[in-house]
Amino acid sequence: PKPKEIKKGLDQYIVGQERAKRQLSVSVYNHYKRIWAGAEQTGDVELEKSNILLVGPTGSGKTLMARTLAKLLDVPFTICDATPLTEAGYVGEDVENILLRLMQACNHDVKKAERGIIYIDEIDKIGKTQDNVSITRDVSGEGVQQALLKILEGTKANVPPQGGRKHPQQEYVQMDTTNILFICGGTFVGLDKIIERRVGKKSIGFHTGASAERSQRKLGKALSMVEPRDLIAYGMIPEFIGRFSVMASFEPLLEDELIRVLLEPKNALVKQYTKFFEMENVKLTFGEGSLEAIAEAARVRGTGARGLRSILEEIMMEVMFELPGQEEVEECVITPECVTERTRPILVSKDGKRKVA
Ligand code: ADP
Repeated sequence: PKPKEIKKGLDQYIVGQERAKRQLSVSVYNHYKRIWAGAEQTGDVELEKSNILLVGPTGSGKTLMARTLAKLLDVPFTICDATPLTEAGYVGEDVENILLRLMQACNHDVKKAERGIIYIDEIDKIGKTQDNVSITRDVSGEGVQQALLKILEGTKANVPPQGGRKHPQQEYVQMDTTNILFICGGTFVGLDKIIERRVGKKSIGFHTGASAERSQRKLGKALSMVEPRDLIAYGMIPEFIGRFSVMASFEPLLEDELIRVLLEPKNALVKQYTKFFEMENVKLTFGEGSLEAIAEAARVRGTGARGLRSILEEIMMEVMFELPGQEEVEECVITPECVTERTRPILVSKDGKRKVA
């Protein structure tokens, strides 16, 4: 698919993040074009491998974006976490195990895996100035970055087919990482302050609105100006950052965007619950102000759109237990109080009677 088609596909699942969507559509398109074109078309121009770095707060859609891209392109995909990774020889997970996961995602078809996408989450946690390093890891985190560097650059890696730690008697499957697209994501808490110091407060600008919204907008603006040197100041090593030709920043989702997340994506939560209720012959209604209340509660939790699901689940749990079998009920109304006071939704019977679920 062309960049425009990729972007269109992303639009069906991801709310907002327009800039990141465009950037990623182009870079993913280029990545696969480089692979398909092969040596004969590019001649003596060597198209360099590119990896992608995503920077932005929790629950803003970084993982979702990587997953959706893999789905749209129909390539193997796996997600892993950078936190337990260690340099060989330390207690923890070897970097090669990441590659094993990708193999497992496509039934150990090495050729297929070599064109897949790997999403590495919490990449900021291996920065060397992080003070949360565990004693099981090399103290700086630098060793992990070095180890990752090799597979990011493109190497023939020896992957233990059963996983676990490497040992001399083991057999290995060789996997070429040259065409694997690595997308790394991190929240980089505090990075905005580093950027702000570099560009000056004025460039971040003044934002209006309620104070929570203002600080969200400020964070988004600051992150949008991220440069490699900021990440180096944060504790990433220059060689590591050098492997990412694309850096995309994700903005914190504002309340109206959280509402759109509830309503718009193909698999939006409201669509899903409405369907569930429909199968019970009950109409699910979100009363005035209820979606706003859910979005507000999610914002307060500070986990972006991630909080939406659990908030809705808390509201729906009881009613989904009680409802089946109550033939007289034809509508279930969610009120703002269901969120703010934890009251139960209201059930409306065919004869117009209303009761608390
Ligand atoms: P991150 O990786 O940035 O921490 P995720 O992509 O894991 O966040 O988001 C968690 C969930 O929240 C997703 O599975 C999705 O349901 C929802 N979500 C987050 N951001 C968006 C977005 N921009 N548009 C639609 N849904 C989103």
